[in-house]
Amino acid sequence: MNPFSYFSAVDPAEALAHADQGARFIAGGTNLLDLMKEGVMRPKALADVNGLPFSEIAPVASGGLLLGAMARNAATAYHPLVRRDYPLLTAAILAGASPQIRNMASNGGNLLQRTRCYYFYDLGTPCNKREPGSGCSAIGGLTRQQAILGASQHCIAVHPSDMCVALAALGAVVHLRSANGERQVAFTDFHRLPDDRPELDTIMQPGELITHIELPPAAQFAEHSCYLKLRDRASYAFALVSVATMLDLGADGVVREARLALGGVAHKPWRVPEAEALLAGHAADAERFALAADALLEGARGQGHNDFKIPLARRAIVRALERAVEGTHDNSRSEERDRSD
Ligand SMILES: Cc1cc2nc3c(=O)[nH]c(=O)nc-3n(C[C@H](O)[C@H](O)[C@H](O)COP(=O)(O)OP(=O)(O)OC[C@H]3O[C@@H](n4cnc5c(N)ncnc54)[C@H](O)[C@@H]3O)c2cc1C
Ligand code: SF4
Repeated sequence: MNPFSYFSAVDPAEALAHADQGARFIAGGTNLLDLMKEGVMRPKALADVNGLPFSEIAPVASGGLLLGAMARNAATAYHPLVRRDYPLLTAAILAGASPQIRNMASNGGNLLQRTRCYYFYDLGTPCNKREPGSGCSAIGGLTRQQAILGASQHCIAVHPSDMCVALAALGAVVHLRSANGERQVAFTDFHRLPDDRPELDTIMQPGELITHIELPPAAQFAEHSCYLKLRDRASYAFALVSVATMLDLGADGVVREARLALGGVAHKPWRVPEAEALLAGHAADAERFALAADALLEGARGQGHNDFKIPLARRAIVRALERAVEGTHDNSRSEERDRSD
């Protein structure tokens, strides 16, 4: 039994004051409550942020879209402006979890979900992320799920979110608020690599609240994007490898601009600007796509059981680019029956 206090906030200042005293925010609870039940996380106090006024999804003057941190994943995926201008985000969200979980899960909570490394959940084994300095059981252990890029000798876990892979490709910006004020962080700088501090998943300071996620204008990519998720089961499973691709494609078949991001391969969504630059100004063909895939995977190293991820990712990148050329597939239509929000 781990007793904790609970406070439901309706005013951001109240929520921040509780966080300043050590309370942990809770939104949909789909990750945090699991971790508390397993004893992996033991907050002494919870500040419920569901009542805060950050649930809206609204256009901003720059031409982009502001997603409230408390907006549900389902509401975000099915929002008409997201479907129209950011179909990659719709596809990525709907590739994750289940309809029930997407109806509960918030956008802020999705960014902060913890790794699915088996050892992180297993209190009987050392884990530097759960207990800093205790060791990493995954190194030399079961590595099928683990990272092939950006790992360290202290942690080889991957970030499990699908939504975040799309947000990385889209160049989103995270809006943070604390007792000290507000700041904005580029999405690609928001999650960390493990280095020697694997207990830190992001650059957030204790007590900071995510209020919004801002999407820059991206309508030029809407016709040619793809989120490809490869996993052990066809649904309700985390990615072994996932790829987000966005192409701004000219009528002559030449790529004006490309965005690529990988999931399931590193402690954060993986983007390499040099790989994207290899596509710009060139015909959208398989040969170029293979060059970009090699650049995106430069430095990839398997851990044994997950060696397969390197060739799998290489092929997935090429396939996701080919699918983007064919045209964005609207998976929100086939998922529409899942809606209950
Ligand atoms: C069975 C199952 C399968 C799943 N499959 C997938 C999948 O395939 N793909 C995928 O991407 N995800 C998957 N998920 C994860 C799911 O998407 C996350 O659990 C969910 O997005 C977390 O959102 P939440 O609002 O429930 O967060 P919570 O559980 O409430 O919180 C998660 C963390 O975020 C913090 N937090 C929440 N909101 C804020 C805020 N605004 N500011 C600061 N901190 C905050 C909390 O303190 C906590 O540390 C799965 C989950 C389950 C249970
Ligand atoms: S890979 Fe990271 S999360 Fe997994 S056991 Fe090692 S330190 Fe823990």
